[in-house]
Amino acid sequence: MLDDRDRIFTNLYGRGECTLAGAMRRGHWDGTAGLIKKGGEWIIEEVKNSGLRGRGGAGFPTGLKWSFMPAPDGVRPNYLVVNADESEPGTCKDREILRHEPHSLLEGCLFAGFAMGAESAYIYIRGEYVRERELLQSAIDEARAAGLLGKNAAGSGWNFDVYLHHGAGAYICGEETALLESLEGKKGMPRMKPPFPAMAGLYGCPTTVNNVESIAVVPTILRRGAEWFAGIGRPRNTGTKIFAISGHVNAPCVVEEAMSIPLRELIDRHCGGVRGGWDNLKAVIPGGSSVPCLPAELCADAIMDFDWLAGQKSGLGTAAVIVMDQSTDIIKAIWRLSKFYKHESCGQCTPCREGAGWMMRVMNRMMTGDAETSEIDMLHEVSKQVEGHTICALGDAAAWPIQGLIRHFRPEMEARIAARQTASNTRSAHEQKRAAQLVSTSSLQDEV
Ligand code: SF4
Repeated sequence: MLDDRDRIFTNLYGRGECTLAGAMRRGHWDGTAGLIKKGGEWIIEEVKNSGLRGRGGAGFPTGLKWSFMPAPDGVRPNYLVVNADESEPGTCKDREILRHEPHSLLEGCLFAGFAMGAESAYIYIRGEYVRERELLQSAIDEARAAGLLGKNAAGSGWNFDVYLHHGAGAYICGEETALLESLEGKKGMPRMKPPFPAMAGLYGCPTTVNNVESIAVVPTILRRGAEWFAGIGRPRNTGTKIFAISGHVNAPCVVEEAMSIPLRELIDRHCGGVRGGWDNLKAVIPGGSSVPCLPAELCADAIMDFDWLAGQKSGLGTAAVIVMDQSTDIIKAIWRLSKFYKHESCGQCTPCREGAGWMMRVMNRMMTGDAETSEIDMLHEVSKQVEGHTICALGDAAAWPIQGLIRHFRPEMEARIAARQTASNTRSAHEQKRAAQLVSTSSLQDEV
């Protein structure tokens, strides 16, 4: 369990002021210039040594990502882009930072921007986050007025500003290259990689795209030291993490905890347990809707970090934990996710455009039982053809929930199909009998 002294986001629930004055009382913007004067390489080394892995889903080491940025060449500017397009179903962690801890994000932007030679940062915020955008914009305005952003930001000698861009609500704009396209005023369609954004990103310039939480933890890492952050959690899975727990728990919540906390402890301590008790648990989606679910048997020992969940063919993703109890029709739940991904596909590549729709339609029949048992293997095979064969990870996101369902709940799918077939056999036998009765009645009447 995370000690209160190790909490980075001390105003996660908005009980304190989110203004600059409130943030400064909590220790933000304290000694910023002094830390910047230690140099960009020092900042990158600290972030590398902390073991921070990207909090947006992929879990790529943040410091390493920053080190890929070329030094400014005086021709093309370097950019930092913050991905605040939080749209993965079940995920609502960045929202709490945006509305209650905006200064941890802005200060983090300054450190990250300086370390990568970027004088501008763009924050791309989800279209539906209207109040969050307003709050973040007033935090930017306040920071600018106080000299923390703009020329000689925070007295550091570095010119740096942050601009906020409001998205229009498309899920795919959370994919980093689609986000860049959208930021440039184009339709949000993922780009082919390479070139990666560090070489040619926003307006063709070197760009790093980071998640909100990844940036917002940086000021505390620099103040308290990489060793402190690396000492929380397990090796390769370090630091604190914001979890968003929803679904069939007694008290759904967003909470900052230590990385690698056992799932059971997370749910029991912060959410009042599973609705109806732990034995009533059916499955958990541990990292936002795109990762494969875990059945109750695995949940008992589950450890909430990148490596343990990857070892179970699932993932930490955005750490949005969706809990499902025994009342859940898991086939219907996964069908609903298929419908979501089919709807959000940008249609650019064939396996995703055609495969997502095909999988959704088959899942629809799996849900009603109007399928053949042999189609389960076919569905799995098609999901494998979609996975890894698309421009962006939405193809994987459409395939993985179905693969998890088949891996862990195949008997339930087969039982649904068998029940439907039995019901339809019984119905047709009954109809045949009824038809025979009608025939014999009418021939009797003819005789009379
Ligand atoms: Fe578009 Fe889907 Fe291809 Fe991504 S995988 S580029 S969403 S069609």
